[in-house]
Amino acid sequence: MRVEPLSGELDVSNGTWALSERSLLQPVWDYLQQNHEGTLRSPLFPVVLSVSTYLVLVLFYTVMDLLAPTWPSIRRYQIHQDRTVTWSNIGTTLALTTYNHLLYIFPAAVAQWLWRPPVPLPREAPTVSAFLLGVVGCTVVFDFQYYLWHLLHHRVGWLYRTFHALHHQYRQPFSLVTQYLSAWELFNVGFWATADPLLLQCHCLTAWAFMIFNVWVSTEDHCGYDFPWAMHRLIPFGLWGGALRHDAHHQQPGTNFAPFFAHWDWLGGTATMPPPTKTKTKRERDEKAA
Ligand SMILES: [Zn+2]
Ligand SMILES: [Zn+2]
Repeated sequence: MRVEPLSGELDVSNGTWALSERSLLQPVWDYLQQNHEGTLRSPLFPVVLSVSTYLVLVLFYTVMDLLAPTWPSIRRYQIHQDRTVTWSNIGTTLALTTYNHLLYIFPAAVAQWLWRPPVPLPREAPTVSAFLLGVVGCTVVFDFQYYLWHLLHHRVGWLYRTFHALHHQYRQPFSLVTQYLSAWELFNVGFWATADPLLLQCHCLTAWAFMIFNVWVSTEDHCGYDFPWAMHRLIPFGLWGGALRHDAHHQQPGTNFAPFFAHWDWLGGTATMPPPTKTKTKRERDEKAA
């Protein structure tokens, strides 16, 4: 039986420095378990993690939205540079998000907290490759599930009107539109985000990382900005849809159904590539406003 080293050590057998993959995440996992075990074992933890990640991201983008009209250095990254996010937009979307959380999310989380025993934590951290593969795998599965749900809820008129039309009230989305959803859509999204890591038998650290990543990229899809660090700029070959393509979906709702990757829309013939954004000059903006 071969004993895996827990820290980086010289692997004499092949003459290279072999850094045990597990050793990279084990100190982080040990620290979390030793200092926050009670919090991590609570069934409420994933919900609090997901909601707080969303609020931090939305706060960042909303501050950008409020500064953009007077700060050209921010406005140049806006997808629609003549668009202004108003306090009324913020109030309406925040009100529905708060309503959904108070009425559905938190009661479901508390019910789970009452009925489910605290989750046992494994002693070992995942290897780096299992961690990364888990996050990518969950993202691929979630992307396919939402693609099918989304296509169906656009193709069947009753489903669209009853459950999805609400999300399309905004043709030019901003970050708070991410969770401007009907309770049915929010339930599906929350269910897949929770079930996919279980389905793929991921470590809980991987599951939480996937939740954070999922909230990050969903919010980025709706943020209304084409920042240099956006996922569609980091992932090559146009494999990632991202903010520009999801913004195009809100303008042409028969296209770009997948939330993250681009391949299902390529295969289904529903992909549209929005025209490249360009920074408008003050003269162009003045002409358009006139
Ligand atoms: Zn959307
Ligand atoms: Zn849609």
